[in-house]
Amino acid sequence: MGDQDWLLELRQVDDRLRDMRARLEGRRADLQRLGKEMLAVEEALAQEQARLESAKARHREGDREIETCRSNRQRFETQLLSVKTNVEYQALLREIAVMQEKAREWEEVVLTTMEQEEAAQATIAKVAADVREKQGAVEAERALFENERKQLEEEQTQLSAGREKLIGSLTPFARNKYDRLTATKGDAIVPVVQGSCGGCHYNLPPQTVNEVRRNARLILCEGCGRILVWLA
Ligand SMILES: [Zn+2]
Repeated sequence: MGDQDWLLELRQVDDRLRDMRARLEGRRADLQRLGKEMLAVEEALAQEQARLESAKARHREGDREIETCRSNRQRFETQLLSVKTNVEYQALLREIAVMQEKAREWEEVVLTTMEQEEAAQATIAKVAADVREKQGAVEAERALFENERKQLEEEQTQLSAGREKLIGSLTPFARNKYDRLTATKGDAIVPVVQGSCGGCHYNLPPQTVNEVRRNARLILCEGCGRILVWLA
């Protein structure tokens, strides 16, 4: 076996590792996207809960104000019984009317806050379900990612021994070419396709094609510099 054969095997190993890494990166991207979606619904839930709390606080304030109006009114009504002058009497009646009006206004506020609380609670129930769903999806995706990561690590360990052996079988020239081309072009080895380079489509001289086919030495494409191989 010559360089071309070792390189083809090496390429298979490296392709497999690259595919696995790409798949893992895809999983990582999915996981990140889902994580962002989860954060967004969690944020929406927190906002709705804050809205509910503020409606409840306003509701409690309204209840207190209504109670204050009621007790003031009772006090004025008691005072009515002991006033001496009509002026005082009229003044108290006015105070009572003011308390009645104020209490009515606060009752309106309380009614509004109750509607707001009801709406917020309905939204919270819905958004909380979304949050649970997203959390479940993230958990499932994380499990897939971890599983794939473990598989890749195991496969890498398994393949690295064979890879080292293949690299050791190459001539230094072939090894350097393979490493450099893999780093710069991604794909170091390309097949001859109908007399042309399978990487850059450079039209190869018939003599080059024959040499690649004979597999006596390593032939590089004159167009892109990649290593040419003959696929039977
Ligand atoms: Zn080429």
